[in-house]
Amino acid sequence: MHISEIGRLANSITYVKGVGPAKSELLEKEKGIVNQWDMLMEFPFRYIDRRSFNLIQEPVEEGQIVQYKGKILNVIVQGESRKRRLTAEFTDGTGTITLIWFQGVSRLEKLIRNGERIIVFGRLSIYNRKRTIAHPEIEILDDQSGERKSKGLQPVYSSTEKLNSKGLDTKGIRRITYNLIADLREHDVYESLPNYLLQKLKLISRYKAFKWIHFPPDHAELKQAQTRLIFEELFTLQLQMLFRMKSRKAKFKGLSFEKVGNYFLQFYNQELPFELTGAQKKVLREIRADTKSGVQMNRLVQGDVGSGKTIVAVMAILLAIDNGYQACLMAPTEILATQHYLKIEQQLKNIGLKAAYLSGSVKGKKRKLILEELERGEIHLLIGTHAIIEEWVKFKSLGLSITDEQHRFGVEQRAKLWKKSGDTPPHVMVMTATPIPRTLAMTLYGDLDISVIDELPPGRKAVKTTTTYDKYRGRLNQFLKSEIAKGRQIYVVYPLIEESSKLDLANLQEGYERLLEQFPRPDYQIGVVHGKMKPEDKEMEMQKFAQGRTNILVSTTVIEVGVNVPNASVMVIENAERFGLSQLHQLRGRVGRGAEQSHCILLTGYKLTKVARKRMEIMCSTNNGFVIAEEDLKLRGPGEIEGTKQSGDLNLRMANLARDGHILKTARDLARAILDKDPELQHPENLLLRKLIERQSGNNLLNRIG
Ligand code: ADP
Ligand code: MG
Repeated sequence: MHISEIGRLANSITYVKGVGPAKSELLEKEKGIVNQWDMLMEFPFRYIDRRSFNLIQEPVEEGQIVQYKGKILNVIVQGESRKRRLTAEFTDGTGTITLIWFQGVSRLEKLIRNGERIIVFGRLSIYNRKRTIAHPEIEILDDQSGERKSKGLQPVYSSTEKLNSKGLDTKGIRRITYNLIADLREHDVYESLPNYLLQKLKLISRYKAFKWIHFPPDHAELKQAQTRLIFEELFTLQLQMLFRMKSRKAKFKGLSFEKVGNYFLQFYNQELPFELTGAQKKVLREIRADTKSGVQMNRLVQGDVGSGKTIVAVMAILLAIDNGYQACLMAPTEILATQHYLKIEQQLKNIGLKAAYLSGSVKGKKRKLILEELERGEIHLLIGTHAIIEEWVKFKSLGLSITDEQHRFGVEQRAKLWKKSGDTPPHVMVMTATPIPRTLAMTLYGDLDISVIDELPPGRKAVKTTTTYDKYRGRLNQFLKSEIAKGRQIYVVYPLIEESSKLDLANLQEGYERLLEQFPRPDYQIGVVHGKMKPEDKEMEMQKFAQGRTNILVSTTVIEVGVNVPNASVMVIENAERFGLSQLHQLRGRVGRGAEQSHCILLTGYKLTKVARKRMEIMCSTNNGFVIAEEDLKLRGPGEIEGTKQSGDLNLRMANLARDGHILKTARDLARAILDKDPELQHPENLLLRKLIERQSGNNLLNRIG
């Protein structure tokens, strides 16, 4: 936020009542809070509603959370020194319960007297039909009115251990924020949205939104504050993205692929081993329309694992070549890039075209030759890892760049590409099997067009997914043997998470040795692949598996993306509870590529968290990547109904994409309409919006994905 926009709030928080140098220093250290604006931006992550009460006479269950309003009847302190405990009878006129404390007894003794009117809040336990609440939260009511002193919903703030120990727990932070807000005036808060938008959408002012997000008088006001702030956040993002997209389109012309030529047709008629699915044809038509429009294509092609993205890429490449351009195809790993190369190189050769492979590991003379041929235009297609967009790689006329299995293709990379073809940038296509929910896609790729291959090639049998526990390994091995006897191959995948990678590798090694005992040579062949191996060794193991020379491939998630071995029909995932949903789905996609029935077996420990259990259930219940992506987003979302914290790395403060899809759509539609009418945002009424565009610093998301 620019200093001129936060005005007086740029002052140190030491000016706020209740914040001395010690607290201020700690807040800076623990939360990066320096000035009053930062403090204001520390939104509560949930709220407590303490205004409706239960009656003691109501039927209740063990463990239920209740809130009663009533009177202390009889306080008794028992025991000596550290073993002291305080019990109190409590009534609300409809019955009595017992409150009990084992800690903080001396403080409570002074606080709770016979006859004191209080509110108690806590978890009931029922023993011998007697109801007790241990360590309830209490609030002493006003002597005169018998009402609570604070009104409205109570904000709950996140704290840290260190803050807690210095009195800056949620209550402490609440007090400071309260004092800050009490002094806040309308003109202290810069309004970022033009009036006409506020009116059109019936949004409250930014000032009011800040007040109510911290101290909402009621649910309705909280909702208004949230809506305003969520809209602002999503709208800003969309406006910036669309503005950027427009100026890019205005700045860069696109290459025009005028014709569908001989290579395309020859391939289509002679080389294509199957009929394209309707979805593949549809996406090809979209690509065709883009590439001849004269505007640069920026297209994301989404298609579930096995939906046949590769062939679509090949056809698009032929379109480029037909029009006299070169193309490049990038993959995130060497394994994947090689696999593409081996397959596509042959296909192109058959129709008289030349493909080459380049990665960091291609060196010396070989590399030199490739670079020369590329610059002379003798290589039509360059396949490889990201090495192929490095500066020293020069094309004669790059017309199309395709990135496979990478949904984070950053601005930096796109910018590099643009430099590769003179004044006019190549068309760009990014393919991903990670089904991104529409809302997320709009936010991440607001400036990309999206195609979806939403149909699998015919004849695929859905993968059968089951879960089993470690202790049933014996039975699992029997099953694996029977599959191998049928000529099938098996993946066994272990999680490998960077921080604990040593431990994980040991885990994989142990699993490998266990398998060797169960599946002895020479009857069985087992291969191992993991990220710490040399690329050549990895490559060799993968090839052995692809050629059917190994029965079982033990690996980390390096096989996650793209690898295609149709004869592999069983995927065993070890410690499945440690994987996220999307990753599990990706892994499962490695099987089910042939005509045989495939299986995915999720091995887990016996005790699972609720979320992990849910993930397993979802995996067993559906094969649909989009359903899984939506569920994933929900599970990873904030969970709190009124919560405002966003998980994940989108840097969204307020918005939750799983929940706020409709606001996002409104924001996007409005941003688009405004830019259509006033592309440069020069109308006086759009002055504030112009500022939103100019304020790009500090927005990591945009800087990252452009
Ligand atoms: P992904 O979308 O996961 O990258 P691939 O492109 O690797 O999928 O395709 C998976 C398999 O399906 C490949 O063996 C491919 O040859 C085959 N395939 C692709 N399209 C079709 C189709 N229309 N009909 C039959 N098989 C197809
Ligand atoms: Mg693929």
